[in-house]
Amino acid sequence: MTVPSDIDIARAASKRPIQEIGCKLGIPSESLIPYGHDKAKISAAFIRGLSDRPDGKLILVTAINPTPAGEGKTTTTVGLGDGLNRIGKRAVICIREPSLGPCFGVKGGAAGGGYAQVVPMEDINLHFTGDFHAITSAHNLLSALIDNHIYWGNELGIDTRRITWRRVMDMNDRALRQIVTSLGGASNGFPREAGFDITVASEVMAILCLATDLEDLEKRLGAIIIGYRRDKSPVYARDLNADGAMAVLLKEAMQPNLVQTLENNPALVHGGPFANIAHGCNSVVATKTALKLGDYVVTEAGFGADLGAEKFFDIKCRKAGLAPSAVVIVATVRALKMNGGVAKDALSVENVEAVRRGSVNLARHLENLAKFGVPAVVAINHFSSDTAEEVEAVRSVAIGLGAEAALCRHWAEGSAGITALAEAVVRISETPSQFRPLYPDALPLFAKIERVATEIYRAGEVTADKSVRDQLAEWERQGYGHLPVCMAKTQYSFSTDPTLRGAPEGHVVHVREVRLSAGAGFVVAITGEIMTMPGLPRVPSSEKIRLNGEGAIEGLF
Ligand code: ADP
Ligand code: MG
Repeated sequence: MTVPSDIDIARAASKRPIQEIGCKLGIPSESLIPYGHDKAKISAAFIRGLSDRPDGKLILVTAINPTPAGEGKTTTTVGLGDGLNRIGKRAVICIREPSLGPCFGVKGGAAGGGYAQVVPMEDINLHFTGDFHAITSAHNLLSALIDNHIYWGNELGIDTRRITWRRVMDMNDRALRQIVTSLGGASNGFPREAGFDITVASEVMAILCLATDLEDLEKRLGAIIIGYRRDKSPVYARDLNADGAMAVLLKEAMQPNLVQTLENNPALVHGGPFANIAHGCNSVVATKTALKLGDYVVTEAGFGADLGAEKFFDIKCRKAGLAPSAVVIVATVRALKMNGGVAKDALSVENVEAVRRGSVNLARHLENLAKFGVPAVVAINHFSSDTAEEVEAVRSVAIGLGAEAALCRHWAEGSAGITALAEAVVRISETPSQFRPLYPDALPLFAKIERVATEIYRAGEVTADKSVRDQLAEWERQGYGHLPVCMAKTQYSFSTDPTLRGAPEGHVVHVREVRLSAGAGFVVAITGEIMTMPGLPRVPSSEKIRLNGEGAIEGLF
């Protein structure tokens, strides 16, 4: 059986009017703010009225370390949502909004795949409801206010060499990584080195995703550190009186977006912070709203479980007071083979031994997830080239570690292919959540980094220059010591070396740089090269994207 392309499947979807999808969740039509016929925001007033309702169960979908072979976390998140609905549970899906920039590079879409997608996928992957434009505008308003303040005399004494707030746009454009602004004479200001990041790397994005309401949003925006004075004291966005206007620009964007799956089940697609310098999951507002509306909420965290799940637990759940009931860890035979040393072009050949070798990666993640007290089930995302023996090899590793494993064919079959996983999830989430974060708030910042590196990455040692340690100590003195740490590490390995697949241990994690996201509320620890403005490949996929004779989009995934 051949499965059509993602966009062809998406375009053939029989969508229901968005009011009908809202109705399934008990959202009256006047509480939906429609964007066309198939997208709507859920009004803030309606969300405020939900606070007394009990919460449903929160299910996290995470994965083994990613490989170029693809794992399918979003596809499985969407599939599981449909699967739970199919077995009669009221389930809501919560995923991130995709960034527009990568659509024109190499990456596929971020709305799921095969017969497990959210629609309208073209809209979701491109402008959607304008949230990213709002975030871009709010971010750049602050950038403009900084240079304007300096132009008019710099009363705050901002050291123009120590401005950390850059500019953003939602495009892959390496030419803007490092630039000089204010060229062209006295009337244009004071020239200084500056640069652009992609919008999803903006602290405003992380703030929007962690804020609980508009009031909290404004407070966090005010707490952004834009740079430092000559005496190294921080200058805040509130010192420039930027927070009020920034919150105004974000007012609509704070409301979660409701769309539907191919099977007409509800999905909230809201917020999309980077998974390296930020925490990589959808907004707290969307997750909390979904928990009030559904009995099960299925959500995804970026990258593998060493990064995505750890941050989901230690940053999002800790700060938002969420207690997840179960974790689904997505594994594929192909990715396990790569972890077992097989080259990308040999993945379609049966190799049970390589699957077994690579399963050490899955085993390590399962052990790690147990440290958070949340029960896990393995989802074997089936690819057509997988053989029965290879699948059995994965299953026996999972069972050997006391976890259930379910073979999932949602990509090819939709919800019918994932009922076993849905039933397993219902079963393991019966027991009340025993969730606990990995470390307490009170642990010193460097010790938090060490805790994650040794317990999750299994590093033997964590090193850092004196300047990094001094900086962390300084932030502790300034009252930021209680914040969680946000690790920026390669997603391809437990170590900081992307080529070390499998389950390396005893390696050295070197913390190269630390950054304080005071508004978002975490300290970023950078352990390798981190790209906050991606580039495009030699042949960008934009070359194939166009409108056909009927005005429909061709070539997008
Ligand atoms: P992630 O969220 O882990 O980055 P996605 O769910 O977005 O991964 O999937 C990445 C790509 O892999 C998508 O193009 C999707 O269609 C494809 N994919 C996912 N599962 C399968 C599968 N079982 N068979 C074939 N392709 C798949
Ligand atoms: Mg994804």
